[in-house]
Amino acid sequence: MVKPEDLAPLAPLMTEWRRDLHAHPELGFEEERTAGLVVAVLRQAGIEVAAGIGRTGVVGTLRGTAAAADRAIGLRADMDALAMTEATGLPWASTHPGRMHACGHDGHTAMLLGAAVWLAAHRHRFAGTVRFVFQPAEESRGGADAMIADGLFTRFPMQTIYGLHNLPGLPLGTIAVPRQRVLASSDSWAVVFRGHGTHGAKPHLGTDAVLAAAAFVQAIQAIVARETDPLEPAVVSVGHIAGGDPAAPNVIPAEVRLGGTARAFSAAVRDHIEARLAAIAAGIAATHGVTADTSYTRRLSPTCNHPAYAARMVAAATATLGVAQVRDDHPPLTAGEDFSSFLAIVPGAYAWLGTGEPAHPEGVHHNPHFDFNDAALLPGAAFWCGLVLQELAP
Ligand SMILES: [Zn+2]
Ligand SMILES: [Zn+2]
Repeated sequence: MVKPEDLAPLAPLMTEWRRDLHAHPELGFEEERTAGLVVAVLRQAGIEVAAGIGRTGVVGTLRGTAAAADRAIGLRADMDALAMTEATGLPWASTHPGRMHACGHDGHTAMLLGAAVWLAAHRHRFAGTVRFVFQPAEESRGGADAMIADGLFTRFPMQTIYGLHNLPGLPLGTIAVPRQRVLASSDSWAVVFRGHGTHGAKPHLGTDAVLAAAAFVQAIQAIVARETDPLEPAVVSVGHIAGGDPAAPNVIPAEVRLGGTARAFSAAVRDHIEARLAAIAAGIAATHGVTADTSYTRRLSPTCNHPAYAARMVAAATATLGVAQVRDDHPPLTAGEDFSSFLAIVPGAYAWLGTGEPAHPEGVHHNPHFDFNDAALLPGAAFWCGLVLQELAP
């Protein structure tokens, strides 16, 4: 068993790493400096390191010495930042305009490094192999798939993989493990309506793509509101609409472009949304005498915990942090995660780590006022260590 206080000597180091990473954020597949820090810390701890896995990913391998064992588990941290400009004004704020750790991946990396250092010093307490998976490009750039394509599971075999993400609003140091549904599928779609542009004063001489686009925005709301089981989550949002020229408001443009996102938790709902966006676009195009070109891109599958592995995370969190700091379920969220790609290959689970109420009222994920709460580093790292001691008990 391990308790957060056992890792207390590592807390200042983890905070230092976290703030250093925060000040030097790197976007997906550009995590050169970040990977450099990860490699240096792992090597210094005596952990076998493979760098350049999925371009900028790093895999550390640590073998327990308590007994001979074939079992291997993976612990994953993501390393990338977002293309946005930080507004926290903190001493460790981003030194790169247009790049920011606004999702707390700096904290995930520092926490897993802290756990790796502690586990390396306590390898006599477990049997089997830990793979520390430092993943690049989680933020919609395909880092998990890149690592898989680069042989993550063949070159570094593991039977199970676990993930952890910070969650503001959840009490500080609390681990919440969804029993099954964690995060939604995240897909994008686009539609182009094309008509015959004409003088705004003589609409009868053309066909109006603007009117078709307006009808489309209204009509697709029925996919969720009228066609999907009210007890089944689904989201269809329009995030982009463009047509015409603001300098020429008296012109009906020939073309209007729309784009948006779609989220679901079940394959059937996801399929339905995809089919209906195209069908509604075609129907509305026919109604208005224009054409519609629809495209739908599947980006991330839903992230769903394997219930037996979620229960293991709950057990490890309870042993490490105490029952008051653990929730054995959490409602699904409609964000997306490419951890789903790992779970499609090996079973595992994903947990939320509470970071408490944000210091800034707007300090939620992907907000320029976000900052990872360093007070969560210790319970987070201790939880990782507790999970390893439990899963690889001799
Ligand atoms: Zn994010
Ligand atoms: Zn994130």
